[in-house]
Amino acid sequence: MEVIRHDIVIVGGGAAGIRAAIAAVEANPDASVAMVSKVYPMRSHTVSAEGGAAAVARDDDSLESHGFDTVKGSDFLGDQDVIQYFVEEAPKELTRLEHWGCPWSRNDDGTVATRAFGGMTTKRTWYATDKVGFHMLHSLFQHSMRFDNIVRYDEQFVTKLIVDGGAVRGVASLDIREGTMRAILGRAVILATGGGGKIFPFTTNGNIKTADGMALAYKEGVALKDMEFVQYHPTGLPGTGILITEATRGEGGHLKNSEGERFLVERDYGVGTKAELGPRDMISRAIVQEIEAGRGLEGPYGQYVHLDLTHLGEEAINKKLPMVRELSKIYVGVDPVFEPIPIRPVLHYMMGGVDTDIDGATTLPGLYAAGEVACVSLNGANRLGSNSLTECLVFGARAGQQAVAFAKGSDDGNEAAYVAQAEEEAARIEAARAATGGSEKIAQIRREMHDTMESGCGVYRQQDTMDATVGALAQLRQRMSDVKLEDDSKVFNTELTSALELDNMLMVAESLAVSAAHRKESRGAHTRRDAKTRDDQNFLYHTLCYHDAAAPRLDKKDVTLGTWIPEERKY
Ligand SMILES: Cc1cc2nc3c(=O)[nH]c(=O)nc-3n(C[C@H](O)[C@H](O)[C@H](O)COP(=O)(O)OP(=O)(O)OC[C@H]3O[C@@H](n4cnc5c(N)ncnc54)[C@H](O)[C@@H]3O)c2cc1C
Repeated sequence: MEVIRHDIVIVGGGAAGIRAAIAAVEANPDASVAMVSKVYPMRSHTVSAEGGAAAVARDDDSLESHGFDTVKGSDFLGDQDVIQYFVEEAPKELTRLEHWGCPWSRNDDGTVATRAFGGMTTKRTWYATDKVGFHMLHSLFQHSMRFDNIVRYDEQFVTKLIVDGGAVRGVASLDIREGTMRAILGRAVILATGGGGKIFPFTTNGNIKTADGMALAYKEGVALKDMEFVQYHPTGLPGTGILITEATRGEGGHLKNSEGERFLVERDYGVGTKAELGPRDMISRAIVQEIEAGRGLEGPYGQYVHLDLTHLGEEAINKKLPMVRELSKIYVGVDPVFEPIPIRPVLHYMMGGVDTDIDGATTLPGLYAAGEVACVSLNGANRLGSNSLTECLVFGARAGQQAVAFAKGSDDGNEAAYVAQAEEEAARIEAARAATGGSEKIAQIRREMHDTMESGCGVYRQQDTMDATVGALAQLRQRMSDVKLEDDSKVFNTELTSALELDNMLMVAESLAVSAAHRKESRGAHTRRDAKTRDDQNFLYHTLCYHDAAAPRLDKKDVTLGTWIPEERKY
């Protein structure tokens, strides 16, 4: 087996992974950093972000205001020390990114242009038309190429963390191109593997978002935190789930029902005068309620409502939302200059993830996590749109710096023991590839996982369906051990990687459903029909979920409060 050694191993080549890599080599120019990614880095999900990245930029704005908006958006479950650090670093990170080449859109006077986003008091979302993720990732990727000591391993699927003597020592990784396994050893490992939207059937997330990093950490005894909180974005295209960015509403778009009413203005959905600029959890619920009240429109993919941009005019749409026009024309045959776009809520983002502290450190020495895979507790029970890209930069950088400091105080350890673990993992993967005798089909298990997640853990939840989902997932996990692969080839065996991904998703889905079923209140994106209010007395804490052979085990962690005292969340 090929054995490779670096100081730091970063799993993931999206915004968080690349930012961590750059921070690591800047903190220690002698450090060697491996950046391992299951796809070519520019294909990471970050590339598809459209709307923008939040940071205070205008004279009429303040860090205090960005901080409070984020705390309130989180339904008071975000950690306030983390939020404070985030809002302070955010403008520095976005400015730094400009110096690395990110072409932020401009006002006529040359200052950075900002747009309105849901739940934000003022315009603080920086953008580069509506192709923000593309430009951010490109700038990061290009900048990372300046450093010879960032060594890339593209199309390598990490299947296991190597853990020895109570610390992480590297990863075992499948070369998707050749079907061979490698041991990539390091004194510290940073997970930057993104979220797991593909656990749900109808999502804006790319196919690669299968919660791998969460499963890797979970299997090694690290808790997954606040997994019950998943975000539905109000405006996805029916059928495909392709995202129509919140920037459409930031630029003045309206949501309308079948009667042509702006229902967020006409009825009380808790968003007050913010109307279409309310937070995502509330607007998604409003759309579901409109549809349930018979005011939805019927289409080939079920009920939907309208996103109307026609009053913005062709010039504004072409200038600020060109990709929205392109996507709408191609995928639903609608030109938003002339007609409203059909939309419905769609699974978009996971607030929960690998439990870390403010440094990105997990409870497993040497293991760090940043970006969507992590739960540093910035987003609490509901993320505000445009905070996530900035989170990848702020906490990716911090994790990179901290991992370098940790690696300095560590040694190379017992390499033979680590390689032995990687060899054992290689045998497991080899057995999975040769598993042509089973009777279960990947597609069938995935379909059943999707169905049960939507019925139990969707926009609205209740005890009986959540409990049923917990039971169904436990059974699906058992059936997964009898899965049959048709393809035993080595080169680009995507059936094998699909099986590995499904295994990861089932494990993380189970932690999500178990966490959801235990929280008997409504908070942020976790909304129950049978427990309609927030209950700070009994549930103002983070949920920790631990892997256990029998069934997931739950625990609690305190929320770090501060200046902002919990109050009713109303806009
Ligand atoms: C359509 C869409 C639009 C969005 N728009 C916005 C927006 O406008 N503003 C905003 O703030 N947020 C937005 N978000 C959210 C935001 O883009 C993501 O949360 C963020 O980009 C995640 O970045 P990341 O670096 O954590 O992970 P990703 O960009 O998802 O990258 C994950 C990386 O991990 C690698 N990886 C995963 N598993 C493995 C494995 N087993 N082995 C090896 N490598 C692995 C992948 O190859 C990839 O390189 C949007 C999300 C979507 C889906």
